Amino acid sequence: MKIIKCYKEIWLMRRAFFLMAVLPALIICNHVFAGCVTELLMEEGDANVVGDTSGSANNAYFVGQPIWQGGHGGVSQYCLRFDGSNYFEAPDSPSLDSITTGFTMTAWINVDQNSASDTIVWKLGAFRIWKNNANLTISLTGVSTVQNVVLTTIPNGLWQHIAITYNGQWLKAYVNGTSVYSNRVNGSNVSIATSNNPLRVGWYNSGSIHYRGQIDNIRLYNNALSSTEIIADKSSDIIPTQPLTIIQSGVAATAIVIPTGTTIETETVAANELQYHIKQATGITLGIYEENNKPTTFNGLIYIGKCDATASSGINAYYLDDNAYVVRNVGNDLFLSGHDSTGSPLGCLHLNDTRIGTMLAVYKYLEKYMGVKWLWPGPNGEVIPTTHDLVANNISIIGKPVLKHTRLQDYNPWNWGFSTGGWASNVVRENYMNAQSLWMRRQGFCRSINLEYSHVFENWWDTYHDTHPEYFNMLPDGTRRPDPYYQGGSGASVSMCLSDPNFHKQIVNSWIATGRPEFINCCENDTAIKCTCPRCMAWDVQDPDLTVPWSERLIYARNAFNTAQSDWYKYLGSMSTRYAKFILAVQQEAESRGYANAKIFGFAYWNYYKKPLDELNLNNRITIGVVPDYYFPWTDARQQTFRDSWNAWADGGAQLFLRPNYFLAGYNFPVNFSRRFGSDFLFALRRDMFATIFDSLTGQWSTQAPNLYMLARVQTHVDTGWENWGADVNGDGRIDIGDLAVFSNWWLNDVTSCEPGNRCGDINGNGDVNFDDFVQLAGNWHNNNAEVESILDEFYNSFGHAKTEVRAYFDYWEEISDAAGSQTLPDEAFAPQIFTPSVMAVGRTLMTNAQNAAEGDPVAVRLVNFLEKGLTNAEKTLAAIKARQDYINYGNSYLSAWQAAHADLNNYRALVEADFICNMGWLDYFVEQYW
Ligand SMILES: [Zn+2]
Repeated sequence: MKIIKCYKEIWLMRRAFFLMAVLPALIICNHVFAGCVTELLMEEGDANVVGDTSGSANNAYFVGQPIWQGGHGGVSQYCLRFDGSNYFEAPDSPSLDSITTGFTMTAWINVDQNSASDTIVWKLGAFRIWKNNANLTISLTGVSTVQNVVLTTIPNGLWQHIAITYNGQWLKAYVNGTSVYSNRVNGSNVSIATSNNPLRVGWYNSGSIHYRGQIDNIRLYNNALSSTEIIADKSSDIIPTQPLTIIQSGVAATAIVIPTGTTIETETVAANELQYHIKQATGITLGIYEENNKPTTFNGLIYIGKCDATASSGINAYYLDDNAYVVRNVGNDLFLSGHDSTGSPLGCLHLNDTRIGTMLAVYKYLEKYMGVKWLWPGPNGEVIPTTHDLVANNISIIGKPVLKHTRLQDYNPWNWGFSTGGWASNVVRENYMNAQSLWMRRQGFCRSINLEYSHVFENWWDTYHDTHPEYFNMLPDGTRRPDPYYQGGSGASVSMCLSDPNFHKQIVNSWIATGRPEFINCCENDTAIKCTCPRCMAWDVQDPDLTVPWSERLIYARNAFNTAQSDWYKYLGSMSTRYAKFILAVQQEAESRGYANAKIFGFAYWNYYKKPLDELNLNNRITIGVVPDYYFPWTDARQQTFRDSWNAWADGGAQLFLRPNYFLAGYNFPVNFSRRFGSDFLFALRRDMFATIFDSLTGQWSTQAPNLYMLARVQTHVDTGWENWGADVNGDGRIDIGDLAVFSNWWLNDVTSCEPGNRCGDINGNGDVNFDDFVQLAGNWHNNNAEVESILDEFYNSFGHAKTEVRAYFDYWEEISDAAGSQTLPDEAFAPQIFTPSVMAVGRTLMTNAQNAAEGDPVAVRLVNFLEKGLTNAEKTLAAIKARQDYINYGNSYLSAWQAAHADLNNYRALVEADFICNMGWLDYFVEQYW
C-alpha cells in the first residue's frame, strides 16, 4: 500500500515538475558530456528527493531515510549516508532505457565495510554495479561476458571517484581518474538489455541489508566516456569553492543574475531587494541580468532563483518544503534560491499563498551577513550597516519557516478595505499599505497551507429552521431560535445544538456535498455556545470556576435570560468540553460513513476557549484555532489561563494554531506588552503550534514598535529545537525547581527512558547527563525568557547611541501598561485615565533624553525622530479627547476649543503621515469616524 501511494505522489510530483521546470529551459549541466541521462548531485541537503540535473527528470525518491551529510569535497556540500536500511530510486523512463549500446557511470563513494551487498546503482534487468566485499563488480544484463566481472578492489572509509564505461565491446574502469581495468569483452557490439524496473541507488535485492556508507554525485550516460572525459568529470566535482567578492573598496565586483525570461515575480522582487539593500549599504548598484545575457567579466556571480547555473550546482530548491530556501557559495558563485510559485508576493497579503522561498533566501543573507534589520515599514525603519567591502564566503544555509502559516491580517476596513478615512491622501495610504506588506515579507511572513475556515453555520437558520429546528440551540425559555439579546436576534449568529446527532449528520452531508474539502468545518457562528437542552447540558463537566451552584446553573441562566441580560449564558459555565465532544462526534460520524481520515477544523473561542475539563482523546486530524479571550492589559492570571488552555488542547492531541485578538488593543497609545506577549507566544510555539493568524495589524508602529517587532520575530525567527529551550527540562515554560527535580532524577539515577515532552536532563544536548548540564541549568535559573530578551536586545541595539535611552523609554511604557489594571481597550473613554498628563510628561522627558543621546548618530536620530512623532500624535490625540469631553460635558463655550484641538490633530497627522508612523485608517475607523 505504501509503495502504491508513493508512486502516485511521484507521478503527481513529476507532472508538477514538468510544468514548473522543464518548459523554461532544457537544463544542461556545465560539467557533463553529451549522453548524460541522469545526474544526481545530492545537493538538496533537506528533502526526500534527489533532483536529476541532467534535464531528463529522473528524480529519485527516498525509500527509508538516508541522511544528508557533508559532501565529498570541492563543490559538493552534501552527500547521502545510507545505513543499510534505506536507499533511493528513480522510476523507469525512456531516457534510462536509452542505455543500451553504451554506458558510463561515475560516482563518489565512501563505503563503511566489506559485505556482499553494497550496491551503488542497480537497474534490475539492465545494469548493476556493486562492491562485493572488497571487489568493485559489474553485471550487464544481455551481455553474457559481463556477469559478475571484478574490476578492481576498493578500500573502505575513503572517498573515491569511480567510473565504469562500456561501448559494446570494451569494458573499462577508473578509480580517481586512473585506469584500473580495460578489457575487450566482445568481438562485436553487444547491447545492454532494458527493463521496466526503477533505477535504484544503494539497494540490494535480497535480504534487508542495503548499502552502508556515503554516495555522492552519480552520473549515468548512454555512451562510453573517454579517459579524458572521465578525468574532467572528476575534476568538475572538486573545484574548490571560493569566496565571492561582491563589493571591493567601493567597486562592484559581481552582478545579480535572474533566470532568463522569468515569470516568477518572487525572483524579480528578490533580485530588486538584494540590489536595493546592497546599494544602501555600499552606495553601489549591482547590475541585474537575465542569465542568457549574464556578464562574463566577473570572477563569480550572484544567482537568484531557479537559474540553469543553480540547477547545475545541484541546488533544486523546488524540491524543498514550501517556502524553504538555500543560500550557498558553490564554486565561484553565490546562489540564493527557494521554493517559489507564480503570483504576486506583494500587495495585500490576505489569502496570498504565493511561495516566496527565493525572497526568504535574500532576506536571510541580508540579515545574517549584512546585519540588516527592518524595525518598521518603509525606509524610516530600515537599519542597513554601511560598508566598502562585501564578501560572501563559505555560506551554506538551508532554511524554512518554522510555522506553516503566519499572518497578520491586513485585509480590514482600515487597511485595503472599504474605508479610506484617516488619511489626507489616498496615494500615501496606498504607499503605506505596500510598505507594510513588504515589511511582513522581509520579516518572513508567508503560508503554505490554507486555514481559511470560519463561522460555518451562518446560513443554516435561514435554510433549516422550519425543517430541522433541532439543529439550533434551545434557549432557557425552551424555544429553539437565535438569541434575541445578541446581534438583534440575527439568524447568522445563532448558536447550535452541538449534541444533536442529526446536526452531526447534516454537517457531514454538507461537507460531502461541497466536494469534501480538506477539513470538515466545525467553526461555530460568531457567538458563545448557548444550548440549554437536556442532552447538551448532560455533556458538560462541572466547571470549578463557575460562581453559582452547578446544579442550579440553568435556573440562574433562565432568570438572567428572562430579565434580558445579554450575558445570561455565563451561568452555564465553560463549554470547552461540550465543544470537544461535538467535534469528536462529527469526526466519528464521518468515519462511520467511510471517511476514516476525516479532518476537523474548529476554534476554541468565547465560552469554549478554556481548557476542556474531561480527559479527552482528540487526535492529530483535529485542528483547533485557540482564540485567547483577552487583549491589553495583560495580567499574570490571564497568561496562566492561556497557557492552561493551550496545554489542555495540545495534550488532548489536537493540532493547534494561535488566532488571538491581542493586537486590536492599545489604539495609538504607547502600550508595551512585548515581553508578556513574546513569552506566551514562545510557550505555545514550543507546544506544537503549527500556524498563526493574527487579527489584526492596526499598525501603530511609532508608539508600539517593540510589540510589533516582537510580533514578527517570534513567528519567523525563533528556532523551536530542543537546543533553544535553555534549561526548561520539563517543558513548562519556566526554569525552576521542577526542572531541577527532573534533571536530578536523570543525573543521579541514570534513568533510561524519557517521557515525551521533556528533555531528560541532557540540557546541552551532547548526549550525556552530567555536571555540564547542571551548570547550564544553574546559569539559566529563572531565566525563562532568554529568546524574548534577545529579540528585545536586537530591537534596542539598532538605536546606536540612543539604545539605552530608547530602552528606558519603552521600559517605562511597559510599567504603565502593566499598571493599567484589568481595564479593557484604552479607547476614548478611559485612555485619559491611563495616559494622564503626569504619565505623559514622564514619557516626554524620556523621549527628550533619547533625542539628546541620538545626536551625532544619523541612524539613531532618524529612528528616534520616528518614535517622537508617535508620541506627539498620542499627546495630540489625548488633547483632542479631552477637548471633546469638555465640549460634551460643558457645552458650546467649549466648541471652538474642541474644533481647534481636532484640527490640530488632523493637521499634524497630515504632516507626518508619509513617514508611516502609523496606520491613520485604523485611528479613523476605531474612534474618530464618530467624532
Ligand atoms: Zn442541545
